[in-house]
Amino acid sequence: MTKRSKGTLFVISAPSGAGKTTLCRHIAAVDKRLRESVSYTSRQPRKGERNNRDYTFVGTDEFRKMAAGGEFVEWAEVHGNLYGTSRKRLKDILAKGFDVLLDIDIQGAAQIRKAFPAGVSIFVMPPSRGVLRRRLEGRGANTKADMERRLKNAVREMKNYKKYDYVIVNDVLNDAVSGLRAIIASERLRTARVDGAWIRDNFFC
Ligand code: ADP
Ligand code: 5GP
Repeated sequence: MTKRSKGTLFVISAPSGAGKTTLCRHIAAVDKRLRESVSYTSRQPRKGERNNRDYTFVGTDEFRKMAAGGEFVEWAEVHGNLYGTSRKRLKDILAKGFDVLLDIDIQGAAQIRKAFPAGVSIFVMPPSRGVLRRRLEGRGANTKADMERRLKNAVREMKNYKKYDYVIVNDVLNDAVSGLRAIIASERLRTARVDGAWIRDNFFC
């Protein structure tokens, strides 16, 4: 197999409840070349969420201190809480030669696009508003007020889909997972990502 020069950054965004955490978990479980970066957040853990696996949960003051110290490659306030991607965690994953999957909101994705123009961005959509509401209700982790806020934000977030390289409609989960795998597979085969030095040393000297 042709060697690649460095890891690829995949950014995935979606309105809350569209299913991106589910999709990312499916992909991360089967794709051994991919790692998810665990974000920091000031929000409270949901039932079943584990510290340093789902998020690293910190207080608002600690988060703001980290942000002021430049510890995040991007960060944003989303639905009233703070979320950020650790510069060190991202660097460590890429340095080990893995591809990275960042599950972040549209503001964070815009910051990453600027910092890593070679990254690949994917927007996940629910099949309809009704399905989105049902998925948020089904997850059962949000208060009524928080859920209404997430639904309202969803419409605003969806307007940004054209800024992304790819769009996946998460209707039937298996189809959405296949779509995501296809995107990742083809992006890895891009000529620009192939290690030119490896080809030169093997064939042209
Ligand atoms: P997000 O991370 O985008 O906020 P989640 O991955 O937490 O969303 O999904 C929200 C809810 O919808 C969860 O209960 C999840 O199990 C469910 N879900 C996700 N994708 C699908 C799908 N394709 N079909 C049915 N339910 C889904
Ligand atoms: P939730 O509270 O449902 O886990 O996540 C809410 C939103 O925060 C989602 O859109 C999710 O993608 C986003 N998010 C999670 N981690 C990060 C992060 O590190 N940075 C940014 N900008 N958004 C994040």
